[in-house]
Amino acid sequence: MTREGRDDWAAGIERLTGEAAMARVLLIGLDGAEPSLLGPWMDEGALPCLAALRARGAFFACASTTPPATFPAWMTCVTGVGPGRHGMFDFTELVRGRYDIRFVNATHRKAPALWNILSDAGKRVCVLGVPGTFPPESVNGCMVSGFDSPVSTQVSSAFVYPPDLFAHVRGWRFADFQESSIGPRWHNEALPRLLQGIETKEAIALGLLRREPWDFFMAVFGESDTVAHHYWLFHDPRSPRHRPGHKDAIRKVYERLDAAVGRLVDAAGPDAAAFIVSDHGFGGAGARVAHINNWLAENGYLRFTGRSGSPLKKLALKTTPSRVRGALFRQFQGLAERAESKDRFAGIDWAHTMAWSEELNYFPSVRINLRDREPEGQVAPEEYERFCLALCAQLESWEPVARALPRGRVYDGPHVDRAPDIVIVPALDNGYSYSFLRSRGGQSMRQLGPDEYLGGKEKGMNGTHRPFGAFLSSMPLSTDAVRLEDIAPTVLGLLGVAGPTMDGTDLLGVRGGVDGEGFHPPAEQDYTAEEERIVEKRLRDLGYLE
Ligand SMILES: [Zn+2]
Repeated sequence: MTREGRDDWAAGIERLTGEAAMARVLLIGLDGAEPSLLGPWMDEGALPCLAALRARGAFFACASTTPPATFPAWMTCVTGVGPGRHGMFDFTELVRGRYDIRFVNATHRKAPALWNILSDAGKRVCVLGVPGTFPPESVNGCMVSGFDSPVSTQVSSAFVYPPDLFAHVRGWRFADFQESSIGPRWHNEALPRLLQGIETKEAIALGLLRREPWDFFMAVFGESDTVAHHYWLFHDPRSPRHRPGHKDAIRKVYERLDAAVGRLVDAAGPDAAAFIVSDHGFGGAGARVAHINNWLAENGYLRFTGRSGSPLKKLALKTTPSRVRGALFRQFQGLAERAESKDRFAGIDWAHTMAWSEELNYFPSVRINLRDREPEGQVAPEEYERFCLALCAQLESWEPVARALPRGRVYDGPHVDRAPDIVIVPALDNGYSYSFLRSRGGQSMRQLGPDEYLGGKEKGMNGTHRPFGAFLSSMPLSTDAVRLEDIAPTVLGLLGVAGPTMDGTDLLGVRGGVDGEGFHPPAEQDYTAEEERIVEKRLRDLGYLE
């Protein structure tokens, strides 16, 4: 920053705060915290610490990425750029030239995060639990990776930097929910574990916040996301899936998070600016299911082979007597699940398929089977654009689809080609989302039965993401709209660090300019088979992979 720029910055900060330039920023992430819950609960006095921040500063709905999914959204929050520039669209991406997926990790990020920019500028950072941050980076400070780390926090220090930080984060837990076995008891047991998880993270975060020197401290709590995915039907009496019981589960988690926010803000001290952000919002899922591949088959874009399921799983079932099947199957379940995921597209007859979908509930999308790109591509490259537009128009005539957009209309930047060809913005059915679930032939729409309302494997979750999260600031903002892209430039502005050009703008209007210094992304390191298995299991337990 130039001398002049720095004077402008200091003057801007003084104008905003009435004090000398602020030295530190605390950014707390509440995954999936929904603004239409926060607002009324703050008004009622149930969330006093968040309400106090709102009274001092500002509270806004915050536009998420498209789709509003955890990985791309947090990466946009910390880089200030959209997925077309940071390159992370989802937990997984398609392997080029194959009908196969791989899990992505922090080495696949193509834009510098706040902790890279601030470390380079000599600032101290402390970053805890941000999704998409494994392996941890060698920052100027410390880092604890997010829930997608393929390690057990009890035995391995591979999720912390520097390694000797491990002694101070013992007890840190990633989600350990067996989502596939959801029954009535599951909800009794999961709520106390979520509350315990917040307590543990709060204690570890407070310890580091007090002990480590820092200019930028960031901690993300995932419990607000998990509770909303699984307890929305209890919380919302108008939900088509409504069940009695556990009425206040979501509220209890929000109240516990409010207390954690209060303690962290107090411990950070009055000279620290505090921001609270959620990566997306939440709403209810209805009882209607949409099967994209079945719709594509109905409309002549896709043909199934007639095979279904993982060959390994079928073999395990076929060749063992039923008496030992249970034990044997459990033993090989990890392997069978992995084979199933790798085999996700095995039921598709590629030679007769022009378009197909990964059928991810939180990221409904369509891929074109393009010649010279896919192994058995059918659509000619010169036909690609016309084909996409025609398919988009036809998709938009299907009830569960609000918009179907070619990826170039949604994303901008050098990594747009990592996105699915067509991004679907789902419609809502009387305010409730459709569940986009896997299919292997049959009807394109169906109705869940009451025994499926709780959700779980192949039934979708009863609470789902929405496009607007929340943003709270301890300082007043001179803006009328907030996007996730705006958070990183705002943090840099407060800390007086220039950093690269970003898609977002500084909400306080004090950023002194940009410096164009290049970021050199690390070499991409794919997960080992064992690491993939662990990440896959965790995502499956949380309900992200069907
Ligand atoms: Zn999320």
